[in-house]
This record gives sequence, structure tokens and C-alpha cells, in this order.
Amino acid sequence: MKPDPSLDRYVRQILLSEVGLEGQKKIRQSKILIIGAGGLGSSAAFYLAAAGVGHIGIADPDIVEISNLNRQILHLPGRIGGPKAESAKLTLNRFNPDIIITPYPVKLTSPEQFHTLIPEYDLILDCSDNYETRYTINEACIRLQKSWIYGAVSEFEGQVMTIIPGLTPCFRCLYPAARSVSKNPAAVMGVTPGLIGTLQAAEALKFILNQGKLLTGRLLFVDLLEMRFDIMTTSKNKDCPACRHLD
Ligand SMILES: [Zn+2]
Repeated sequence: MKPDPSLDRYVRQILLSEVGLEGQKKIRQSKILIIGAGGLGSSAAFYLAAAGVGHIGIADPDIVEISNLNRQILHLPGRIGGPKAESAKLTLNRFNPDIIITPYPVKLTSPEQFHTLIPEYDLILDCSDNYETRYTINEACIRLQKSWIYGAVSEFEGQVMTIIPGLTPCFRCLYPAARSVSKNPAAVMGVTPGLIGTLQAAEALKFILNQGKLLTGRLLFVDLLEMRFDIMTTSKNKDCPACRHLD
């Protein structure tokens, strides 16, 4: 951890009864791993860096492409062709030099990779864009008893849920098999991941502070075209192949 910076930067949140100096210390001591430096990861990482999260890991194997820039606000035109994880570190450290950013410019595919990385962090944010990665995160987090926050977007719609292994339904309880939710999976309005990533950051800060009511056992659906926010209660699947052994 870097030496304590001036607290002036955080004074407006320290004024909150839910934060205060103790809460700010918790935020500063927290370590959060963001998997994906795309649209979701951009807004989540910006707001966690703004809040003063002391250590943010950010994993992404991809390079910056021009078509990313309608939504991936961590990256700049001059970074096209370079690794997203390194671009994220440059931007976040410029925005908040008081915190540590660790980039992982690699594809996390094997459970072993997750098992090495995840124990170093207090909380995982799924800012990926595919079921394969989410199932791997789900299984690794169950095995390591690590909490994580699922986020997904498509077109003008998004979802968020917080998963605490052993206590709440897991991702496979919710989605036993991968499914396509969109006829046009590459299409997305940039504000959609901007908002969903921000909601993931809000959940992360509540988790770190132990404040408020988390989206545990509750799946938030957002539809920006209709401007609807709906919450669906979810429950554990007693036959879930991923988490049934925890009961
Ligand atoms: Zn489950």
C-alpha cells in the first residue's frame, strides 16, 4: 500500500455517516480485482479509483481498438493497438496517483490462473462479456469463498447481481447454461455499460463498507430504452452443480 495521501480528496464522502474516517480507511485498505477493461470495467474502475480503493487489479488480454471508444472511457485514441490493461493503469494512475493499479494483460481461462489471482483480492468484479469467463469466476470464487459482482450488458439493457458463496444463489443457480439474450450481441449503446459498471462500483463500495442492502439473491434488470429498473428475487438451486455442496 502507498503512504496515506491527503484526505482532502475524499472529504465529500467522508462526510457521509456510512463512510466517515473509518470507512475511508476501509476503502483505502481494500483490494478489488476487475476482470475486463472494457465498457463495464471502465466506469467501475474510474469510480473505485475516485473513491480511493487502495489497490485495483485489472485483467484484460485485448488491445484497444477504435470501435471500443464509444463506451470504454479508460482508453484514448493514442492507445489504439496497445494492451487495454496497461492503458487502464495509465489512465487510472493519472486520475488518482495515490492508489496502486496492477494490470494483468493476459487471458484468464484456466481455474489455476484464477486460483492464483483471486486470493490476493477482497472482492472480484466480473466486467467480462462472456459466460465462459463468468462460470470460471463463479467456480473459483465458490472454491475460494470469495464474493463477486456479476454485471452484463446488451444493447440498452443490463443486469447486476452480487454473489457471496455459501450465503446467496450463485451464477449457475441463476443461469444453469449459457444463453443468448440478444439477436445482435455486438450492439451496445455506450451509456449502458457506463451505468451498469457504475452500479457494480456502488455494490463494491457497499460491500467494503458493510453498508446498505446488497443485490444478494436479487437480480437487477435495467432497460434504458423504457427507463425501467426491475428487481427479480433469485433463490439457490438445491441441485446446482456448482454450489450445492456448500449447503
Ligand atoms: Zn449455485
